[in-house]
Amino acid sequence: MLITPEPAARSSYRLSKSRYLSGLQCHKRLYLEIHAPALATKPDAATQAILDMGTDLGELARRRFPGGRLVTAGYRQSQEALAQTAELLQDSTVSAIFEGAFQFDQVLIRVDVLERVGVNASGQPTWRLVEVKSSTKLKPTHVEDLTIQSYVLEGTGLALADICLMHVNTQYVFDGLELDLGQLFTIRSLNETIRPRLPEVPSRLASMHEMLNAMSAPALAPDEHCHSPYECPFWAHCTQEKPPRWIYHLPGSSKTVIQLRELGVETIDDIPDHVALTPVQRRVKDNREWIGQGLRSALEKIVYPVHHLDFETFMPAVPKFVGTRPYQVIPTQWSNHIEYPDGRLDHAEYLCRDGRDPREELAVTLLDSLGGEGSICVYSSYERSVLERLAEDFPSLRKDLKRVMARLWDLHIVIRDHYYHPAFEGSYSIKAVLPAVVPSLSYADLAIGDGGVAACEYARMIFTVSDWIEKSQIEEALLRYCERDTLAMVELRRELKKRAG
Ligand code: SF4
Repeated sequence: MLITPEPAARSSYRLSKSRYLSGLQCHKRLYLEIHAPALATKPDAATQAILDMGTDLGELARRRFPGGRLVTAGYRQSQEALAQTAELLQDSTVSAIFEGAFQFDQVLIRVDVLERVGVNASGQPTWRLVEVKSSTKLKPTHVEDLTIQSYVLEGTGLALADICLMHVNTQYVFDGLELDLGQLFTIRSLNETIRPRLPEVPSRLASMHEMLNAMSAPALAPDEHCHSPYECPFWAHCTQEKPPRWIYHLPGSSKTVIQLRELGVETIDDIPDHVALTPVQRRVKDNREWIGQGLRSALEKIVYPVHHLDFETFMPAVPKFVGTRPYQVIPTQWSNHIEYPDGRLDHAEYLCRDGRDPREELAVTLLDSLGGEGSICVYSSYERSVLERLAEDFPSLRKDLKRVMARLWDLHIVIRDHYYHPAFEGSYSIKAVLPAVVPSLSYADLAIGDGGVAACEYARMIFTVSDWIEKSQIEEALLRYCERDTLAMVELRRELKKRAG
């Protein structure tokens, strides 16, 4: 695709930190971000919520630096931000600058925290650079992130005494009273890691600028690099002309896909017969409905009344309830469809509607609904992991929860081992399986259609939204979504029973 940069814009482009990181991931991505941003796919609600969570944590992290001052000019007001930062740098009473703006070598950055730590031998103030991340550990992209920031800061003449990453500490246990920010965040110095990398930056920037001045985007093919360290928003654009059974859609290890691509295999149909594939990959290649001989007996192992259980959960980065840790999985609702031997169906559900710790009440109501008999049909091992955690957290309920766990029956395993439909396109997720097996039932009519969005909406309903009409709309959407998950399992079992004969 030919994208001609505006003549006036050719020669130099100011990069931001995130654009520099895009360029490290893929030159084509950076090119498209600058010359054709409209081709990007907008982040979905769940991705946006993760980004927002990062912003919230950044604001909380500032409280670790009392006396710090915020550069209030927005991201688009770069001249104002640079001027405000320059003023704060001169003011020796300012112990830390938040969101300071700095520019060097055509790169403009905003720095989460720049802490004044002392004075060097020449009488110049020294600073500690602190980048705040919502992640729980150091990742390679954090090193790149701090490298470009350090390059710019030192380029402007600042003396950096230390270069640090501040991330969430999952070992911190909230006492329910006051957040201990010293415990919630871990600060680690990466000075020794970053320094040797600084000399690489000028040549990297030069090659990015050269690429940006070309008349068209570099001819880079989409592959694994598009998903790491970030999902590239141009994936749909770059893959729009790929065949529907593109080899990249083969499930399983990416190693197999890489090897096949090296052999020149472009589609799943072109995979030579002698190539060793897993059973699932073989079914995807065969591309026809497959009913395993054991399907019927696997389905008949279930015991009536059959409960169909699904949890929804959320994982607050900042713990909300006593005794919980950052990112701990907190179950907030359940749905149970109960099918009796005569085909009758009952439905029960629970949703915590306020900011209380929902876990104990959720567990007690669930135990009551599940009673003492019948299999409990789930789809994946997730429900077991939630029950195990509840059993750990509430010793008085442990025995009953263990009894419940002994009744779990995983429909996902039954389908994975005994059934395949070409419309699965290699995925055994319930979102792929349901429309293929029960086309009359889907998630398309629901306001909330996936677990990630449900988690974000729950947090929003409890901690952000104050309007009761909006609250009740979210509540209703959450209930209907969880209900659909368990109804899906009922209908899938029924339909598979018919197909098993
Ligand atoms: S989808 Fe892949 S190839 Fe295309 S711009 Fe993004 S990272 Fe580059």
